Amino acid sequence: MLYGALEAGGTKMICAVGNENGQILDQESIPTTTPDETMPKIIEYFTAKISPELPEDDRIKALGIACFGPVDVRPKSKTYGNILNTPKIPWRNYPIVKTLKDALNIPVSIDTDVNGSLLGEATWGCAQGLTDAVYFTIGTGIGMGAMSGGKLIHGMLHPEAGHLFMVKVDGDEYKGHCPSHGACFEGMASGPAIQDRWGKPGKELAEMPEVWELEAKYIAQALTDITMVLSPQKIILGGGVMTQTQLFPMIRKYVTEYINNYIDTKELRNMNAYITPAALNGNQGIMGAIKLAVMAAEEEA
Ligand SMILES: [Zn+2]
Repeated sequence: MLYGALEAGGTKMICAVGNENGQILDQESIPTTTPDETMPKIIEYFTAKISPELPEDDRIKALGIACFGPVDVRPKSKTYGNILNTPKIPWRNYPIVKTLKDALNIPVSIDTDVNGSLLGEATWGCAQGLTDAVYFTIGTGIGMGAMSGGKLIHGMLHPEAGHLFMVKVDGDEYKGHCPSHGACFEGMASGPAIQDRWGKPGKELAEMPEVWELEAKYIAQALTDITMVLSPQKIILGGGVMTQTQLFPMIRKYVTEYINNYIDTKELRNMNAYITPAALNGNQGIMGAIKLAVMAAEEEA
């Protein structure tokens, strides 16, 4: 069976066709501008994949969307599948699920981009077989997807763990970059926060250990809090900032220090496996969207 997948991001929309094994068979990237410009191109891509001219087995059976937030992911909600109060103004309140469902007439399912990445990793990547895991993306913004008891967590909307409050590291005078909270996790540790604090983008600061020591301390605070709250079996870290791989051992060291033996589990005794990079080479989001489509098709059946 074939499935459609859309990874909806702030700069590009990745459209793909995959199978139930998570294999990506076709892929196209469309720039994210306005819905008027972008959506017809997405619809055109997927309409070709349901064409009656294709043999039945070559048509996609459902579409999964892993979408930038905030987005209404509650299936019972009247505004299910609408993008909500995003800073990307033209997309505010845009009914992305309804638009695609009306155009394609196949089951369409949506979740956050971070839940999508986590689902990809839980199905085919480094979190296979786990029931409790979290995925942080640390880049332009910070977001977290979470799975508890085998289910992706939504709650009243969806978690926003990029905005956890931080305890300032001694001597740190930086006010923070979040327009809503100043010195929250995203305000202190996102890519733009690094650039604002040090006057250069992170990739030009790779050789300055003090940059990454400080960064690791803030990331470790958030990971410690999430460990305390959700008790995940694994924490996966992705996003542009985490391409600075020297962060991983520092983060593991500080999480160990901050937990301070308060929790003793086999998972925490193996920090290298507990805090780990994404394993699907940047395809975790689109693969998660394939899995969302598989689930949507199963639900419909
Ligand atoms: Zn914030």
